[in-house]
Amino acid sequence: MGRLSFKRILVTGGAGFLGSHLCERLLQQGHDVLCLDNLYTGNKDNIAHLLQDPHFEFMRHDVTEPIRVEVDEIYNLACPASPVHYQNDPVHTTKTSVHGVINMLELAKQVKAKILQASTSEVYGDPEVHPQKETYWGNVNPIGVRACYDEGKRCAETLLFDYHRQYGVRIKVARIFNTFGPKMHLNDGRVVSNFIVQALKQEPITVYGNGHQTRSFCYVDDLIDALTRLMESDNEVTGPLNLGNPNEITVKYLAEKIIRLTRSQSKLIFESLPADDPKQRKPDIALAKQILHWQPSIVLEEGLMKTIEYFDNLLKENR
Ligand code: NAD
Ligand code: UDP
Repeated sequence: MGRLSFKRILVTGGAGFLGSHLCERLLQQGHDVLCLDNLYTGNKDNIAHLLQDPHFEFMRHDVTEPIRVEVDEIYNLACPASPVHYQNDPVHTTKTSVHGVINMLELAKQVKAKILQASTSEVYGDPEVHPQKETYWGNVNPIGVRACYDEGKRCAETLLFDYHRQYGVRIKVARIFNTFGPKMHLNDGRVVSNFIVQALKQEPITVYGNGHQTRSFCYVDDLIDALTRLMESDNEVTGPLNLGNPNEITVKYLAEKIIRLTRSQSKLIFESLPADDPKQRKPDIALAKQILHWQPSIVLEEGLMKTIEYFDNLLKENR
């Protein structure tokens, strides 16, 4: 793409796992990128290689505070995504989703920017419909320990649609399912990074519950591809759109696969299942296939190998 069609794009949560990959992709496409992050779970190392690029800027800012910048598009990714981290300061997690989204929607309204919200499969809670379609309204415990995240994200979706209906703001809602890859934090706490780091350190693999619960894991490059396609889609396409990989596996299978791929001596240990942990999760991505002409192309093993290589290097550097 030539510089003539470049856009000024704000990425909130841009120093996090998905955000840093997104910043990189948008710069490659020739855009100007403003990365905003309070570095709660994000990391300057994730964007260090971008700081020399004249088309990239980093701003340390909390989305719960208003901001005014001239941009054409907003990707709102700011929010801790790992249960360990979003439950650490649950009140701030809700504020990040609710106050943060209001601030970003006000900005979108003022400067007439298009806004994409990183929503989540967690809006389906512990789903009673399987696989999950966008038409399913979910099964969320509103007062449980995951509610700060789940209900915050649900309220954020409500706000996007109300700003769209009431003020005509152009919106895109992406319901992201479990995504993994390089640049996840070493202490992120989510399952793929936990298992890989434990396997590489020859430590026990902590399976919560009996490990029969399922998830469907998407490699980061596929997900970023879907996010940019969604942003570029026609204005009538508001979502919500499920984005993820429908290849459903059990947590125990994931643990065993990672042990094999790392050739680790680690053994599984079974710990108690966290409260409200969803038993099954698999996206129905028919809508994304039809609207975005997209489907994931990176198989689990290939994605895991790239992620293992990343953590292996990181652990060697930290030694
Ligand atoms: P992450 O924790 O690596 O990234 C989140 C980023 O947001 C971090 O850099 C963090 O410092 C920043 N942040 C948090 N609160 C903030 C605040 N108040 N103000 C400014 N910045 C703030 O997680 P991720 O996996 O990259 O997730 C990115 C987004 O995608 C999140 O909104 C998450 O809910 C959503 N999502 C991710 C997944 C996944 O599997 N990775 C699945 C569903 C939804
Ligand atoms: N999990 C696990 N061991 C870990 C971390 C997570 O068994 O060290 C389980 C967790 O209980 C859940 C699944 O893996 O059933 C996915 O957890 P994660 O925190 O990655 O994401 P989410 O629950 O939000 O899908």
